[in-house]
Amino acid sequence: MSLDISTIAVLGAGTMGRGIAQVAALSGYHTILHDPEPTVLDHAHDAIVATLDKGVARSKVQPADADAAKGNLQLSSGLDDCVAAADLVIEAVPESIELKISIFQAVDTVAPHTAIFASNTSSLSITEMAAATTRAERFAGMHFFNPVHIMRLIELVRGLETSKDTLDALMAVGRRMGKEVVTVNESPGFVTSRINVLIGNEAFRMLQEGVATAEDIDTALKLGLNHPMGPFEMADLVGLDVRLAILEHLHRTLGDLYRPSPLLVQYVRAGRLGRKVGRGVYRYDDDGNKRG
Ligand code: NAD
Repeated sequence: MSLDISTIAVLGAGTMGRGIAQVAALSGYHTILHDPEPTVLDHAHDAIVATLDKGVARSKVQPADADAAKGNLQLSSGLDDCVAAADLVIEAVPESIELKISIFQAVDTVAPHTAIFASNTSSLSITEMAAATTRAERFAGMHFFNPVHIMRLIELVRGLETSKDTLDALMAVGRRMGKEVVTVNESPGFVTSRINVLIGNEAFRMLQEGVATAEDIDTALKLGLNHPMGPFEMADLVGLDVRLAILEHLHRTLGDLYRPSPLLVQYVRAGRLGRKVGRGVYRYDDDGNKRG
């Protein structure tokens, strides 16, 4: 049975939700972006339009495609309105299993019974979320990367009950979005988060021990190991709070190797959450440029 997708609902209009909505709209899907915070929705809309316009200015996006994407995009602060006619619901709310389960349970009662649900979680159990709904076979992980319009990978995560039809349908969506898709069996942190948070956590430990400055650790990994970004640049982009939530989950599920660095915990407590608030490991100006 083929599962046709034409309308995608994206839940959460933060860093990831707005990026996912942008690529969905640009790929020709009718896209409804939801966030309970109207100001977040307005900012997300402005950011999507600005990124599309930048794409046109740099000849990466055809003007007609950018216009079509803007036309395909709808905003909604009401959850029910957002999902009532969705073929696919992609959730991108904060990394909390309780929050994600409560949202999927609410959506399960309103979305069409044929709709597929996908979570953009970086680490949490797809099977646990799926089991809280009435559609475990139409539930999978769809792990996008930041910034979504640039990063080429989607990790498609198969939960215990995820059906082949669901995986095939999500694979087709990912390819239509221009992404490479790898399929991963459910496991904490999948492939990418499990490795990436370990590198980032070790970098924080080295910073705390005084092994080198943040700049020199970033430069060492970029020039010595050919990483495209330093671990602190990456943590600031992802969000230190997001990183900490993933580490805490992997610490609980995979063991002591993933114990969060005390310095990372301290930065999060201090509100140094990364680029999104203007300060993480580094400071940023209003245009997102690193200061001093
Ligand atoms: P974020 O904090 O930037 O955005 C989360 C958004 O969810 C906010 O706008 C918030 O208002 C909204 N929200 C909160 N409660 C909600 C609710 N009940 N219903 C709808 N929206 C609600 O977070 P993010 O960085 O976009 O991360 C979202 C998810 O994506 C997390 O699971 C995270 O682990 C995952 N992820 C993040 C990255 C990254 O680089 N930041 C990369 C891959 C995956």
